[in-house]
Amino acid sequence: MRFFLKLSVATVVLGVVGWFGWPQYLQRMTQLEQQRLAAQPAPVVPQMPERLDWPQQLADLQQLASEAMAGRGTGQPGGLAAQHWLVQQFEKIGLIPAGTEGYRQPYQARSGKAADHQGAANVLGKIAGTDPALPLLVITAHYDHLGVQEGQIYHGADDNASGVAALLALARYFKQHPPRHTLWFAAVDHEEKGMWGSKMLFEQQLLQPEQVKLTINLDMLSRDTARQLFAVGAYHQPRLEPVLQQLQQQSSVRLLLGHDRPQWLAGHTPDWTTGSDHHIFHQHGIDFVYFGVPDHPDYHQPTDTSDRIDPQFYREVSETVLSSLLLFDAE
Ligand SMILES: [Zn+2]
Repeated sequence: MRFFLKLSVATVVLGVVGWFGWPQYLQRMTQLEQQRLAAQPAPVVPQMPERLDWPQQLADLQQLASEAMAGRGTGQPGGLAAQHWLVQQFEKIGLIPAGTEGYRQPYQARSGKAADHQGAANVLGKIAGTDPALPLLVITAHYDHLGVQEGQIYHGADDNASGVAALLALARYFKQHPPRHTLWFAAVDHEEKGMWGSKMLFEQQLLQPEQVKLTINLDMLSRDTARQLFAVGAYHQPRLEPVLQQLQQQSSVRLLLGHDRPQWLAGHTPDWTTGSDHHIFHQHGIDFVYFGVPDHPDYHQPTDTSDRIDPQFYREVSETVLSSLLLFDAE
């Protein structure tokens, strides 16, 4: 049955392509995808509750994007400073160490530019769930960024100090409000140079795919002129869709399910399935939701600095991510 369904979908696609031609087909699919996004509901709640420690979260973002951390380049002094600072924060919050050397999981990348970097490490901690029989919920955010290049600091405030500061805020919250599922907090390294940090979680068997219920990846949360946040992943795992639709009803930002469809369905609308660390989890057959904003003019520029984030939007986005975790923890 599935085979015939696929066959008939393929026939329709080929028929339409034959009729219009590929470029026209892609244009039409782009239009349809834009319509699908536009048809999703606008926010219904005027504001988010204040459950996270916002002043602390903002201070953490500023710290991660500061001169002292010099853009957190893997193998650079700034990257090492960020790593040590994160270990201190995990300790202060009271997470259970989940690395190979306390909170740290040092590793050596094997290929590409990443292979030249010394001192790469993930920083990993967990909070035990009240029901040990349940699988893990994993929260990831890469702490590395582009570091110093030709004397210039690439601060990476949005990319991805914002995701890491949100991860810390969530860890603080769940330390006070114990979850049912065990929560894993992974501040991963090397996203910008081949996602080695995430790869090593599986290669060194710190995570077994069958233990994980879902991963939530946070990468770029703190600014968007249209106040849109994307939740990526439901296309690959339709069971996530009703939960994310429920989340749309609970969020004060425009939460859109999208950027997860292949070209033949979404035309020129970019597919972010391979865009960040969730890609590695997806390759291991793990369901994922990636939360992130569209690229902006300061993306991967030295001007991605703390003063350019939108604090109000970032706070609302972070509370939305918390709501998503509460929904997934409850199911
Ligand atoms: Zn990023």
